[in-house]
Amino acid sequence: MITAIYWFRHDLRLMDNRALVCACEEADELTLVYVRHANEESTTPWGFPVSSPLRRAFRDTAVDGLAVAIRERGGALLELNGAPVTVLTDLSRVIGATRIYCEDIPAPEERSDLAALRAAGLDVRATWQSTLLESADLPFDVAAMPEVFTSFRQRVERAGIRPQWPLAAPVVFPRMPSSASLPYRPFTPSRLTLGPVAGSFPFGDPAFHGTEEAALAHVNRYFRSDLPTTYKATRNGLSGTDYSTKFSPWLAVGSLSPRTVFVALKKHEEVFGASDGSYWIWFELLWRDFFRFWSERHGVRLFRAEGLSTLAPPSHDPIAFRRWCDGATGQRFVDAGMRELKATGYLSNRLRQVVASYLVHDLGCDWRAGAAWFESQLIDYDVCSNHGNWLYIAGRGADPRQGRRFDPEHQAAVYDPDAAYRALWALPTDSPSS
Ligand SMILES: Cc1cc2nc3c(=O)[nH]c(=O)nc-3n(C[C@H](O)[C@H](O)[C@H](O)COP(=O)(O)OP(=O)(O)OC[C@H]3O[C@@H](n4cnc5c(N)ncnc54)[C@H](O)[C@@H]3O)c2cc1C
Repeated sequence: MITAIYWFRHDLRLMDNRALVCACEEADELTLVYVRHANEESTTPWGFPVSSPLRRAFRDTAVDGLAVAIRERGGALLELNGAPVTVLTDLSRVIGATRIYCEDIPAPEERSDLAALRAAGLDVRATWQSTLLESADLPFDVAAMPEVFTSFRQRVERAGIRPQWPLAAPVVFPRMPSSASLPYRPFTPSRLTLGPVAGSFPFGDPAFHGTEEAALAHVNRYFRSDLPTTYKATRNGLSGTDYSTKFSPWLAVGSLSPRTVFVALKKHEEVFGASDGSYWIWFELLWRDFFRFWSERHGVRLFRAEGLSTLAPPSHDPIAFRRWCDGATGQRFVDAGMRELKATGYLSNRLRQVVASYLVHDLGCDWRAGAAWFESQLIDYDVCSNHGNWLYIAGRGADPRQGRRFDPEHQAAVYDPDAAYRALWALPTDSPSS
């Protein structure tokens, strides 16, 4: 008899969850678990919490939704707090579980958790499942993948690779071990009451909660409109819900799978016709895949100060860094972006590039501090996309050029010509210049 644990990580969904389907097929007894990491509120070496209250609140809406969806299928989600390895090994002892199923995440800390669980004698079955494309379908080994995104994309497109079809949600879960033997109470969902959070991803509104239900409704709404047709022209917008897809927060917590997005994209093209815009959504999702495979390829090297480069370690200025975090550098476009990020947990791609470049190339700060601040603040924080993009801008990653500097004055003139965005996030004391 197989008694197992399913450990939900960044895959807070029932649909297209291969690791979960596998667990449901193989286990006789299965306990479904979510672990809130003990270190979430602890302070990083840079002096702020690992995860901000906003980021945690968004994630909690996703956990809530998952618990409800599981309950509707006759199961229960155990919500535990602590260091995952300790919590899961304790639980496995209590319920007699010998196996843990979960998704595989190509990042050092996430992988070291799996190694520690294995060292504790557990049979860990980790499934790679967060990309659009399967590594086995790629026209190259991940270990020898192209270092530059354009070559990656061209080789994928020339080979005509398509994502695999998404899997249905499990209909029933294997029974849980007798709850009498469990020291933990099944998690009772506590509908969070978030205040109205302004911004481009207004997750105080139930339509933007982190649940799988909200994610699928958003995907349907988006692809039934003609927004995808104009995506390429609007994607550099700064403010509002419609200028880009807004899929990233749901993709990050895993309440949405990229394969589900792809199916909806193709249906949209059948109805509205393929367009530059619809192609560009695929193009951007390939960037996401690129950074995931790239993390698999380079592992811990991506977390070093020099990244993949041979450059000297970056300099750092803690005072300038603090001003940047607070949106108080004096550069109005940058400050507006940083205030939006802190107030809402979301920032447009255009401004992510501008503020990251400003920190590294104008303020002379360490890119790892910026990446850590984004990790703390972003509701769509994703280890692979975040590190990949920061390294790219710092010129220490997947970019043959020596860093990408974005001139904030020029960027503001092009993307915020009437200064409306700067006015939206201005303080009364801000000077109107720059
Ligand atoms: C410094 C920096 C840090 C970033 N950190 C993150 C992060 O932690 N998590 C995250 O999801 N994205 C990150 N991005 C990428 C990008 O800014 C966001 O994915 C995008 O803004 C999310 O909004 P959207 O879903 O409306 O994107 P859209 O423009 O609608 O794009 C559709 C999808 O494509 C993917 N995508 C788009 N651009 C990128 C990109 N440059 N890299 C990887 N995937 C991309 C995302 O999954 C996105 O949801 C970062 C970018 C920069 C410059």
